[in-house]
Amino acid sequence: MSNIENCIIIGSGPAGWSAAIYAARANLRPLLFEGAMTEENRVMGRFPMGQLAQTTEVENYAGFPSGKLKEFLTSAIDPSRQYMFPPVEEHPHAVTGPELMELMRQQATNFGTRVITDDVVSVDFSKQPLVLNTSENGTYEARTVIIATGASANYLGLPSEEKFRNRGVSACAVCDGALPRFRNKPLVVVGGGDSAVEEASYLTKYASKVYLLLRRGEMRASKIMQGRALSNPKIELVKFSVVDEVLGDEADPRVGVTGVRIKNVQTNNTSLLEATGMFLAIGHTPNTKFLGGQVETREHGYIAWKQSYRTITSVPGVFAAGDVADDYYRQAITSSGTGCMAALDAERFLASAGFH
Ligand code: NDP
Repeated sequence: MSNIENCIIIGSGPAGWSAAIYAARANLRPLLFEGAMTEENRVMGRFPMGQLAQTTEVENYAGFPSGKLKEFLTSAIDPSRQYMFPPVEEHPHAVTGPELMELMRQQATNFGTRVITDDVVSVDFSKQPLVLNTSENGTYEARTVIIATGASANYLGLPSEEKFRNRGVSACAVCDGALPRFRNKPLVVVGGGDSAVEEASYLTKYASKVYLLLRRGEMRASKIMQGRALSNPKIELVKFSVVDEVLGDEADPRVGVTGVRIKNVQTNNTSLLEATGMFLAIGHTPNTKFLGGQVETREHGYIAWKQSYRTITSVPGVFAAGDVADDYYRQAITSSGTGCMAALDAERFLASAGFH
């Protein structure tokens, strides 16, 4: 058992790093668990650095217009962590998700945030100090905890989808889109939100064609993203349709998915889309399992804030920020904002308890 920490932050997306920057500058010496580099986390979309690390350009995070970012990125970020950056020429419009996350991580560590690459697997929040059990690094105690564990991509839940996961079924185009099995072949993207359009657009770099499967007659995506889908000659909208079954070769993992049988929800007729891949972009579920129900949640499992405009949860000393508590805005910039709020709330909690 270690010393009692002032502030432990769980999660390494924009909420976690922003909380860390504020907590570190307030001399709380925050300790941040960024998640473990396990295969399970990779498949479930819970790798360190969160969802943004799995995306391409981030055009709407204020402060990063297009321009000569290369010099800035290479001077700001430790060279040992620049290995995953794509050439700037490939993303002329804005900073990329991985770059933005590395900038935030660097900023947090510059102010003394200590980072551990591990998962918090369970907690005991029944009393102070709060107890956190990790996968590889034992147990930690803290006076305040900021939960910023984000949300993970949903799957449809079909047995055939499960069977072909990682053999043509994926929830991350950026992670998997460049694989040989998807090159110059038709692909299916399920969903009609901003994520689906983003995934579909990205996949057109590799695929011969991308079917965007909508269960309704229209997209949920913002107007600008809808325009991007409609103007891309490689994207074809397939309306009023849901996945009936993922088809493929089970015996040969090199083959995997060969098609998707879809059902028209208006006529109940089924038809076949030939495709070597199916990408899910149908929303997310907050990552709260490790809490074992000890923090009150709202509908669909999002952590409840107990006071409006405060990141206070049902447990004294525990605060929640980012997508784990937000089913409404879900933007990188709002996550950063609530991360900042959580650090300020934690600092005030410590001050009122006489610790800071
Ligand atoms: P959304 O909840 O916005 O969209 C989910 C989509 O999946 C909807 O089209 C929904 O259909 C569909 N869907 C849900 N369940 C099923 C199912 N079982 N079968 C078939 N289709 C299904 O999620 P996103 O992940 O797209 O976006 C989340 C948030 O992140 C949003 O606020 C979005 O604006 C933001 N975001 C912003 C980006 C940007 O600005 N560039 C990029 C990516 C995300 P239906 O519409 O019928 O409900």
